[in-house]
Amino acid sequence: MSKYIDQIKKLVELQEIDSEMIKLKDRLVEAPKHLEELQNSLDDIDGQIGQTKERLDLLNQQKDKLQKDIEEDSYKVKKSKNKLMMVSNTKEYHAMMREMDNLEKLNRFREEEMTNLIEDIQVHQEKMEELSTESNSLREELSVSQSTLDSEMEKINKRVNQLEKGRKKACANVPVPILSRYNFIRDRLNNPVIVSVKRGVCTGCYISIPPQSFIEIQKGEQILSCPNCQRLIFWEEHFSNSN
Ligand SMILES: [Zn+2]
Repeated sequence: MSKYIDQIKKLVELQEIDSEMIKLKDRLVEAPKHLEELQNSLDDIDGQIGQTKERLDLLNQQKDKLQKDIEEDSYKVKKSKNKLMMVSNTKEYHAMMREMDNLEKLNRFREEEMTNLIEDIQVHQEKMEELSTESNSLREELSVSQSTLDSEMEKINKRVNQLEKGRKKACANVPVPILSRYNFIRDRLNNPVIVSVKRGVCTGCYISIPPQSFIEIQKGEQILSCPNCQRLIFWEEHFSNSN
């Protein structure tokens, strides 16, 4: 009986190491995901900044062109006004008046367009400022997360190394056939490998152990498997009373 109890204890010890190892390895996979999400958001914002900047450049080019056209035609109107004084021919006078009128109309239309353009540029500049602020704060968050992650990963990797050494020691204490059974189950079933039986129920699959197996397990002579889930089982009472 004491040899049996001793073997179970060693298997439970091994189980504790394996359970912690599984948890840590899951964390190694999960932890960088937040960082990836942040990086994706940042890439998205930077893409939007690029598009907004392109649009702003285009709008500014349009504004410059429009400004130039307005100035040129204003100058023409001004020149015509001066010339108008010298014109004596009525026909010519009317033609010049019409042309000036057209140019002034065109410029009024351009001024309206200019107002719209300036509004549009303002909207895009505000958007640009918002995006820059967002991009900067994301960049900051990313760098903080990166260093937090780095130190967490370092701690986890250290602990995994410790556990691997501990596992080797724990394995050395378990007889080879029992260890092979343990490893066989570990490779095929979800953690855990070894579980207690509480009030006649396997705590691995929560199904009642058949009476014959339950009598066997209480004897504490050989290491049994749950007939349902195949995990190694031990009777919890052996541990609450006899150690
Ligand atoms: Zn079971």
